Amino acid sequence: MEKIYDYTLSELEELLVSFNFKKFNARQVFEWIYKKAVLDFNEMSNLSKDLRSFLVENFTFSNLIVNTHQVSKDGTEKFLFELEDHNFIETVLMRHDYGNSVCVTTQLGCNIGCSFCASGLQKKKRDLEAYEIVLQVLKVAQITKERVSHVVVMGIGEPFDNYDKTMKFIDIINSPYGLEIGARHITVSTSGIVPKIEQFSLETKQVNLAISLHAPNNEVRTKLMKINKVYPIEEVIRASKEYVEITNRRITFEYILLEHINDELKQANELSDLLRGINCYVNLIRYNDVVEFNLKGSSEERANAFYLKLKSRGINTTLRREKGGDIDAACGQLRSKKT
Ligand code: SAH
Ligand code: SF4
Repeated sequence: MEKIYDYTLSELEELLVSFNFKKFNARQVFEWIYKKAVLDFNEMSNLSKDLRSFLVENFTFSNLIVNTHQVSKDGTEKFLFELEDHNFIETVLMRHDYGNSVCVTTQLGCNIGCSFCASGLQKKKRDLEAYEIVLQVLKVAQITKERVSHVVVMGIGEPFDNYDKTMKFIDIINSPYGLEIGARHITVSTSGIVPKIEQFSLETKQVNLAISLHAPNNEVRTKLMKINKVYPIEEVIRASKEYVEITNRRITFEYILLEHINDELKQANELSDLLRGINCYVNLIRYNDVVEFNLKGSSEERANAFYLKLKSRGINTTLRREKGGDIDAACGQLRSKKT
């Protein structure tokens, strides 16, 4: 059986046409499954009987089972979902004044193994399929009965190590006949897989890109992220500049503030020199505790001083307030297992 949520609109059109149905039937199906959230092909009253039987015979609606659902003081919600093969993933819903944003997982575990991230503690078991990523958004919308307006691909896993399925997921949730999540409301975050940043620059959709930089030079970055040995910082910066030139879009650099590791003022200077002239902004992130690591986030004062230094040197910067820390739903705290 095929998974209906694994099909992009054009794939479904092509398939239906090859079985002598009409191209517009695919749009109708999309509207039923995404706009009306119907879970039974027989309820799709504007489809012919033949088409309904064809769908029933060939497609399933797969499901995610909610194992645990936690709600944070600040309204953030975390879901531990069980997949059909009984693996577990985490998905987070964040409430903002501009809408609800869902943070999706793309892999079971992560092989990049950054030294500050709980997700990397488990080696990757497998990539998620596009439908398993789509289902995270659908389930959260269904459970909360609220519209999801934004998606961040920042949960467990390195999306650019699961590139094709991540792009397929984006195509599906972006469809105007489906969930209609605007490309500008979707952000993909990568640890800096340079060839994939290059590929992403050539995609036609206007999706936002965030790069996990976390350091102003190779020495510090390699200590924090061993992937820097494969794709050193100057390559990451070169590919980021190219992305901005090709797409005309601003790029985001994420930077976790770790006390006395990457939060010295001279490192702020070094960072501003590195980023000078790039249409970017820097998202300074407070380190969220992960019990397995002996790391300390910067104090409030040091974080502010770093922030002000970047600002004074003309770099667009935000010092992000974390959401969901009390339920381990913040960046870097997600795990692909029950705890
Ligand atoms: N693998 C991708 C996307 C998932 S991680 C990436 O690394 O970009 C999403 C963001 O959370 C990244 O910027 C990551 O560096 C950050 N992060 C990881 N562990 C963290 C922690 N303990 N505290 C704060 N941010 C963390
Ligand atoms: Fe993987 Fe991103 Fe965590 Fe690094 S920060 S281990 S790339 S999920």
